[in-house]
Parts: sequence; C-alpha cells; structure tokens
Amino acid sequence: MTVIDRGAAKYGRPYKSMVKLKQRDEKDAFVDNVIQRSLRFAFDLKLILLTQEPHVAMLKLRNTLTRTQEEFKPLEGNTVRMYACGPTVYDYGHIGNFRTFVSVDVLRRYLKYLGYQVQHIMNITDIEDKIIRGMLASGKSLEEFTEFYTQEFLKDCDALNIQRPEIMPYATKHLPQMIEIMRRLTDGGHTYQSDGSLYFSISSFPGYGKLSGLKLEGNLAGARVDVDEYEKADARDFVLWKAAKEEGEPRWPSPFGEGRPGWHLECSAMSMEYLGESFDIHCGGVDLIFPHHENEIAQSEGATGKPFVRFWVHTEFLLVEGVKMAKKKGNYYTVRQLIEKGHSPAAIRYLLLSVPYSTQLNFMLDGLRGAETALEGLRNFRRRVAGFEGATGSQPRVRELIARAREGFEAGMNGDLNTSKALAAVFEFRRDVNTAMDAGEFGAVDRAAVLDLLAGIDSVLGVLGEEKEQMLDPEIESKIEERNAARRNRDFDLADGIRKELAERGIILEDTPQGTKWKRK
Ligand SMILES: [Zn+2]
Repeated sequence: MTVIDRGAAKYGRPYKSMVKLKQRDEKDAFVDNVIQRSLRFAFDLKLILLTQEPHVAMLKLRNTLTRTQEEFKPLEGNTVRMYACGPTVYDYGHIGNFRTFVSVDVLRRYLKYLGYQVQHIMNITDIEDKIIRGMLASGKSLEEFTEFYTQEFLKDCDALNIQRPEIMPYATKHLPQMIEIMRRLTDGGHTYQSDGSLYFSISSFPGYGKLSGLKLEGNLAGARVDVDEYEKADARDFVLWKAAKEEGEPRWPSPFGEGRPGWHLECSAMSMEYLGESFDIHCGGVDLIFPHHENEIAQSEGATGKPFVRFWVHTEFLLVEGVKMAKKKGNYYTVRQLIEKGHSPAAIRYLLLSVPYSTQLNFMLDGLRGAETALEGLRNFRRRVAGFEGATGSQPRVRELIARAREGFEAGMNGDLNTSKALAAVFEFRRDVNTAMDAGEFGAVDRAAVLDLLAGIDSVLGVLGEEKEQMLDPEIESKIEERNAARRNRDFDLADGIRKELAERGIILEDTPQGTKWKRK
C-alpha cells in the first residue's frame, strides 16, 4: 500500500479528495498570483519612488584616499560640507590654479543641482614664505599686500563665473584655532620644539603616508623641514609654528614663542572650525596631495583621533601647449592676460571644464578659439529654440530627446564628474532638436521644456549666461499693426493692452504724425 492509498482509504472518498486537492491548487495558484502581483506592484512602486528621488545616490567620485570611485553620500543629512584649499595671495592666479577652482565650482554646482545644500569653505592663505618675500619687496604692510591680491583673485573668479563659497576665512584671523590644535597635538605627544619652532613628529602618527602612498622607511628620525613645500623624498618632521627669525617678518605671540603658523596647519584649523572634526569632501590640485594634504590629515587626526575627511578629490595638472606651464617658457598665462588677448572669460571657463578634472588638460590657444565656437553654437541653438514658432502642444519625439539628454548629462556627471561625456550628451541633443525643428515637429510646450533643460545644465556648467528673450522685429511690427487695427475699431482697451505688453518686453512705442515708431528700452 502506498502512502496515497492509505490516505484515500482513511478519508474513504479518494475521488472527492482529489477534487478538493485540485480546488486547493487553484486557490493556491490564485493566492500566489495575488502575492506576486502585490510584490510586483510594490517593486514597481519602489522603482518609481527611486527614480523620483533626487539622483543623490548615484554620484560617484574618485577618492584619492581609497584610490577608487565611491558612491558619494554626505555624512549627515542633506548638507555637503566641503573644503577647498584657496589661493596664496602674493600674485595674480594663473590658469593652472583656475583649472582647480573651476573644477571645484563645477562639483559645488552639481551637488546643488542634485538637491544638496552645500556648505563650502575656501581659505585665503595670507601668511606664507612667498607672501613675506613679496610684502618685504613691496614695502607694503602684510594686510595691504594680501588684500590687494585677494581682491584681484575674486575679480578673476567673478569673470570665470565661479560662485562664491559660503565662507572664505583668512589664515591670520584664525591663530587661536591653530594654537588650540598645537596644544592638543603637544598633549598627545605628537610635537617637539627645536630652535624656537614647533614640529610635528611624523613617526608619532602611524597613518602618515596613507593619502599619498608614501612609505616612510629610510626617513631620518628627527630630521626636519622648515619650508612649506617640499618633495616626497624630503618627507621629514614638518613645522607647525615657525619661530620669527628675519627682521620685519610678521609674527604673533603664542605659548610656543613668537612666530607664525606653517601653511599646513591653517587648513586643518579653518576646515574644522567651520565644518567640524569630520566632514565630507576636501578638494585641491594634485600637487597638494603631498605634503600639504598628507600633513593636514596627520595634524587633524593626531589632534582629534577622528577620521578627518571622507572624500579627497584632486584636480589633475594643466599643461600649456603640451608642456608644464612656467614663466620662463613663455607659456604662463593669467586669466586677465587671456582676456586682454581678446578671449572671452566664458570660453576660458568652457575650455577648463571641458576635460574631466581627473585627467590632465592640455590648454591650447587654439582650443580657446574652438571653445568660442562651441559656445556660440550652443547660444545660437538656445536662441533658435526660444524664437521658434511651432505648433501648440508637444511632440513625443522631443519629449524623448529631452529625457535622453538629461539622462546622458547626469550619467556623465555622476561618473566622477565626467564633463566631456556630459557635454557630448548636450551636443547630441542640439543636433537632434535642430532636426526636429527643421521638420516642424516641435511644439510650444517643447520650447519651454528644452529651455528649462538647458537652464538646468547651465546651472552646473555656468558658460551660456543669461539671455533676455529678445523680440524679433517682424513680431514687433505685427503687434503694432494689430494695435493700429484696434485703434481704428475704437477698441482702446485692446490697443492699450498691446502697448503695455510691448512695454513689458522692453519695446517703447511713440505715435507720430508719420505713424507709430518703436525703440528698445
Ligand atoms: Zn590647504
């Protein structure tokens, strides 16, 4: 006897039992179906919700600390706390400096585009070896000397449409914060004094070298460097507080004697003052990885015992005509020199950002001319769209192009701010929308949507500038014609309405014995 037979015998009605089983199968199948549908619905809903969320989860940035691209998320809430090393104000900034400042600006703007709040700090280094040399040579006071170059730097930033960070602190205004870090480091056994200066002992911080990949073997124990900039081969204990030595050198009192701060210390002090002991992003040029940022980590983590920065983002070098820029090679340009040569600031910005920040950029004057042409093309496109008289409504094809362009732009930017990929999506979009307009397959609703997309993209790139919607002459003439007809019909309300409408768009009418004349405001 099989198990089934025994069961059938027990219930005595094998056939009915089979019917019941069949019914139960159907019921189960029905229940399964409902569950599956609900799950499917929940899944779809989740997909919808995910796609409607800000695209925040998708931005990936290359983190110098881990040497990998990682998904970016702020440490707390929706606010990104970022710090960028600012200018050392002893001269006009060159385009290599501005490549970094523009790339930081693009990062800042893209974070805002994604819906984040941004708390962005950029310091002004107003005390440093080169500044002291320049100040002494100029015969000016430290403040006079540095304030002049600070203002000139900000003028260049404005020309290049670089947004102002939320706070721009000056190093010399943050000495108490620097002294506090030195006190904590001294309490923790990370410092020693020699010849009146205070040094950071790199052997006291086991993580030293983790950002730059420096191996410490072979370094001389107790050997020191006093200068702010040096090579990896010269990795030594570095100076936190420099004793005043030269005549006329700016100096401040401190528990460690009269002197001035080392360059590295100021960035630890100002970043933690405004962003807290751990924050999201620290930016700068690749030339700052060592020693500047390595030393910032050692000082900050040595003082707090906490991780200092989550993401280190570094902008690659800029070459000019294929070689490293240098005054003596004649390929050294400041922003103002290029503007004086007749290049537009927007083209300079465009060229600086058109290559992803993570790869080297070969800056060529020919490239600047190409940038002018590319920008003019995009502005013409925007003008054509704004003035396009199409049918009412919207075309499915154009809606599809808009969605694809937005996706392409964001996919580029989300991939470690790949601006060249993002720009490629914009140019493809221009080509396809032009084709749609040529075919007359472009509605009034599409016009607003295309302009809206372009405005969103330019909120990140910052190269197109604003353009007031200009009325075309034939459009004005026909409005005047319409108003004259209204006046002949003694419909003065309509006539006044047209005059008002034109005035709002900057067109002034004047009724003369020879007829109605018009001019732009
Ligand atoms: Zn710095």
